[in-house]
Amino acid sequence: MGLLAQGSPLSWEETKRHADHVRRHGILQFLHIYHAVKDRHKDVLKWGDEVEYMLVSFDHENKKVQLVLSGEEVLETLQEKGERSNPNHPTLWRPEYGSYMIEGTPGQPYGGTMSEFNTVEDNMRKRRKEATSLLEENQALCTITSFPRLGCPGFTLPEYKPNPVEGGASKSLFFPDEAINKHPRFSTLTRNIRHRRGEKVVINVPIFKDKNTPSPFIEAFPEDEEAARASKPDHIYLDAMGFGMGNCCLQVTFQACSISEARYLYDQLATICPIVMALSAASPFYRGHVSDIDCRWGVISASVDDRTREERGLEPLKNNSYRISKSRYDSIDSYLSKCGEKYNDIDLTIDKEIYEQLRREGIDHLLAQHVAHLFIRDPLTLFEEKIHLDDANESDHFENIQSTNWQTMRFKPPPPNSDIGWRVEFRPMEVQLTDFENSAYVVFVVLLTRVILSYKLDFLIPLSKVDENMKVAQKRDAVLRGLFYFRKDICKGGNAVVDSCGKAQSSPELAQEEYTLMSIDTIINGKEGVFPGLIPILNSYLENMEVDVDTRCSILNYLKLIKKRASGELMTVARWMREFVANHPDYKQDSLITDEMNYSLMMKCNQIATELCECPELLGSSFRKVKYSGNKTDSSSN
Ligand code: GLU
Ligand code: MG
Repeated sequence: MGLLAQGSPLSWEETKRHADHVRRHGILQFLHIYHAVKDRHKDVLKWGDEVEYMLVSFDHENKKVQLVLSGEEVLETLQEKGERSNPNHPTLWRPEYGSYMIEGTPGQPYGGTMSEFNTVEDNMRKRRKEATSLLEENQALCTITSFPRLGCPGFTLPEYKPNPVEGGASKSLFFPDEAINKHPRFSTLTRNIRHRRGEKVVINVPIFKDKNTPSPFIEAFPEDEEAARASKPDHIYLDAMGFGMGNCCLQVTFQACSISEARYLYDQLATICPIVMALSAASPFYRGHVSDIDCRWGVISASVDDRTREERGLEPLKNNSYRISKSRYDSIDSYLSKCGEKYNDIDLTIDKEIYEQLRREGIDHLLAQHVAHLFIRDPLTLFEEKIHLDDANESDHFENIQSTNWQTMRFKPPPPNSDIGWRVEFRPMEVQLTDFENSAYVVFVVLLTRVILSYKLDFLIPLSKVDENMKVAQKRDAVLRGLFYFRKDICKGGNAVVDSCGKAQSSPELAQEEYTLMSIDTIINGKEGVFPGLIPILNSYLENMEVDVDTRCSILNYLKLIKKRASGELMTVARWMREFVANHPDYKQDSLITDEMNYSLMMKCNQIATELCECPELLGSSFRKVKYSGNKTDSSSN
């Protein structure tokens, strides 16, 4: 989730006093980097994935599953035995928001050759094995996007009661502060978001109305005025950052060969975010309830929404400078490449002074407005020891603002004095149950970037349409039922070349003809006379590439999974989880997920992930490569 500084965190009031300082120096730091490396060229393709994990513990006797709050210790051992003892160790581990979470990446980035695609899954297996080996009997490492009973009584091990009093970080009625990672960054973020906003965060997730779900569905919170005011009928009410940032995802970062290629990829991939998010849907349950959404996105967005009432447009502007239309965690608001300029149709709030300063320093309009938009935000955490920095050689203040703009795509300048190039990060995907699926989604996205660059494809549509797609993508079964705006002719004119876009006409009628509503099946698999389909394009790219037999076979298997998820032949994780719950003998069609149902579901997920059982509805058959070994939670003897 970003950088970790050590030291003494400042309160919101103190941080706020330094906000202008952080912004001012953050921009100077950005300018140093920009001027030093703007002309860097010929960096090679490198890329890497990030998988976030949850630690769970099974109580087979009581048929209960809990989140284990041992992430910090497990992380310490993983780093000690891994990167700290061997710089070439194949895995890297990082903390995540929940005290029950860790994040794993490959030890070194992958390179540009095709055979690298064949190593992703092995590396993910290594990670799973490595972390699993440190767990206790009956514990498991799970790649689930959201824990179905997160925030229900006793959902952690050890158990803690939430503590909704002044002085706590979340003040949540449901999510105890002990479930937040112990590193001070995370509780400080939580507390400062709440203080900046002026009240607890409010998340209302629409409930799935089953046959016996009360209608209207109302949970009363008579003892808590804030909750009584904030919770909506027919919604599952959540009130803490942990409900969002305590979810897991799958991300991919690419190094581009130059800044302009990075900007081009940033734009092209931004249009793909809602499509791949819907395809990866894996989070239908919240706080023990079946919801009507399949993806975590909006939940996290609301969980870190630090905007004040003024900024949200609920009160006239008095103490704040802007109305701000989105949370810090949201979809991108402007394209960055020249080709994208004519599709920038969202009102962009920017810090005008910063924009002018960047322009004076020779930065073009699109990049200047991008940065000036990120910098409308305040820093959320600041460590006393890290206020005065060397702007020419450090970038903490820039990263402070940059890394708390959690958007669908992230444009990442190189760190100062490093040999890392310009990068973009693809952030919308939900994490899947198995290493096979996670590899499939990662390989699909990376291959897509290869094809975008080689065939000079152009996916751009007005950004407001991408935003509409983001909303559709999160709905239940969006992958089968949703219609998404997508560009009709993605090869048109070949004017989508990096660095030299064709002169764009910006007549709105013209723009309208460029895209139309399509199903995910059409976008991914194509439809005669309508759209060629991304998978057929990837397949034809593959046919023209030199690839060894084994790698080709793996890639084709990955693409098959994506293809079948898009057509509905295979289920998304979200759909599969819904069916599992619906068919559970204890389920009363009342949208409630009991401890025992959660236990069976998580057991099943873990068995699938560790290949103790098949799951053809989710994975198809004959996909898998090698057997996983070393599982400790099998209770099949029970
Ligand atoms: N866990 C967050 C998510 O599900 C992402 C945190 C991060 O940026 O690493 O999107
Ligand atoms: Mg992360």
